[in-house]
Amino acid sequence: MSKNKLLFLAFISTFIALAQPHPSYWQQQANYKMDVDVNVKNYTYTGEQTITYTNNSPDTLHHIYYHLYFNAFQPGSEMDIRNQHLKDSDKRVKGRINKLKQNEIGFLKVNSLFQNDKKLDYSVAGTILEVNLQTPILPGQTSTFKMDFTGQIPKQIRRSGRNNAEGVALSMTQWYPKLVEYDIEGWHADPYIGREFHGVWGNYDVHININGKYTVAGSGVLQNPDDIGHGYSTTVKEKNSKKLNWHFIANNVHDFAWAADPEYMHDFLPLDGNKKLHFFYKNDKDIIANWKKLQPVAKQLLTYYETHIGPYPYPQYSIIQGGDGGMEYAMCTLITGERKFGSLVGVTAHEMAHAWFQHILATNESKNEWMDEGFTTYISNLAENEVLQNNQSFPNEGSYKSYQKLVESGLEQPQTTHSDRYSYNFAYGVSAYSKGAIFMEQLGYIVGQENLAKIIKEYYTHWKFKHPNPNDFKRIAEKISDMQLDWYLTDWTKTTNTIDYGITTVEKKKKNTQITLERVGLMPMPVEVLITFEDNTTQLFYIPLQMMRGQKPVAKTTTILKDWAWAFPTYSFSVNNGKKAIQSIKLNATKKMADVNKANDLFNLNN
Ligand SMILES: [Zn+2]
Repeated sequence: MSKNKLLFLAFISTFIALAQPHPSYWQQQANYKMDVDVNVKNYTYTGEQTITYTNNSPDTLHHIYYHLYFNAFQPGSEMDIRNQHLKDSDKRVKGRINKLKQNEIGFLKVNSLFQNDKKLDYSVAGTILEVNLQTPILPGQTSTFKMDFTGQIPKQIRRSGRNNAEGVALSMTQWYPKLVEYDIEGWHADPYIGREFHGVWGNYDVHININGKYTVAGSGVLQNPDDIGHGYSTTVKEKNSKKLNWHFIANNVHDFAWAADPEYMHDFLPLDGNKKLHFFYKNDKDIIANWKKLQPVAKQLLTYYETHIGPYPYPQYSIIQGGDGGMEYAMCTLITGERKFGSLVGVTAHEMAHAWFQHILATNESKNEWMDEGFTTYISNLAENEVLQNNQSFPNEGSYKSYQKLVESGLEQPQTTHSDRYSYNFAYGVSAYSKGAIFMEQLGYIVGQENLAKIIKEYYTHWKFKHPNPNDFKRIAEKISDMQLDWYLTDWTKTTNTIDYGITTVEKKKKNTQITLERVGLMPMPVEVLITFEDNTTQLFYIPLQMMRGQKPVAKTTTILKDWAWAFPTYSFSVNNGKKAIQSIKLNATKKMADVNKANDLFNLNN
């Protein structure tokens, strides 16, 4: 590469790094102050909340909405009914919500709400609080919303709740009245049926007043360790049930979660730059060894993500035993802890990757579930492979197999389907996690691995602490690769079109061999053809897709053929193989292209 070209590329990447996401991008800001008092005997709590809300949109707002997630855990809620009707409903939910007694349900009750000291009327519709504003919020204006609320922590059904299967007392996720996000697409007042994340970016200042025997873990940095005599404080006090007031601050997040238990052990590992990795787990002799062994591995995982995505920007990250599987939250995760070591690492790898792909790069999980679950699956499979030294050559291969099963099942819906509106959980799961992971892996096949690595980092640089959408990601990929990729985003995410390229005929003509390929599936792709000769040497041929208007960098030994224009169902090229006979012709030898029909990918010649 010439020096001039290097300079030019350096200039371009600086330009990309400094640019705003795009000129018209804006996002709302909601800063929370919450004071919560918890009754650990009857699982209720009261809270005072002040939200300072800035309308950065170009629109005047006449309404606002809040999520009241805990209302989902009541007989007859949408979550309850949906899971009774889904053919493959979540076993953690189905037939459990409708059995909850009055003192076991979850709820969030709003006792009063004021906007800048003016009392507001509101109504509750399931898990959404609908509020008509007396004073509309003009573009650029800030309003203050003061609310008094009462909550009841449900018997754990899904994610949150009291006394989870492993005996963790309180898993407090989706626990407070949370302002609904308003963005370029409008309001996102999605009822809580299955998925939950799309929140307003802001700063959280939270006080949790709770029985002194409980250790509290969560989003944010504990401000008063010495007052409560906890963990890394210099004074360790005798624990008693006199209430202690835990004060946390979490800045630049879009959610706040916590958990509490009287038996939590608490370890921490220092990271670079005065940051800390915290571990909270039950004092249970069966799990302690695994949770100790996890700690250096978790640090390696974090380092992996920092190297391959971007720096972890918060002062702490906590891995907390709680919840009902694994779920990501701001600056922390709640995972179940009674697992074999491999599974403990696996769930940690996945949830920690979400610190980037959801809690730093905050995609709308209801609408673009494949961006957070898929990207997380992609990177965590690579990270796990590295830190556990599994030496798998293709750590994401499992995602391709799952996707193949989904296609064969006939139950696939486009990835643009709202995450609550899949007919089958199976289809949601494979679409979000596996097909989402393939989106990234296959992008590497299309643009080249080095470009993909740059794209992921540039995506982070551009979109951290914001709400990127699919097109935003695509634009980064296009700018880095200098290829047009709209066809990829469109066909892969907005349709159920499949990829199927095949070999139709192979004709020997003196010194040449004429090879004809066909495109059977509707989805376009660039094609790679690997030819193996009788002496076991190989030659790779690369056929760029014409509508990419560019091509990936390839090894010098690769032969680049003329473009394939998508509408043409067949494509022929000839190989001048001289006296060397061809043994086999193989499409998709790397298996990185999600070709759904392998039967026509290999042609063996009998010599
Ligand atoms: Zn996930």
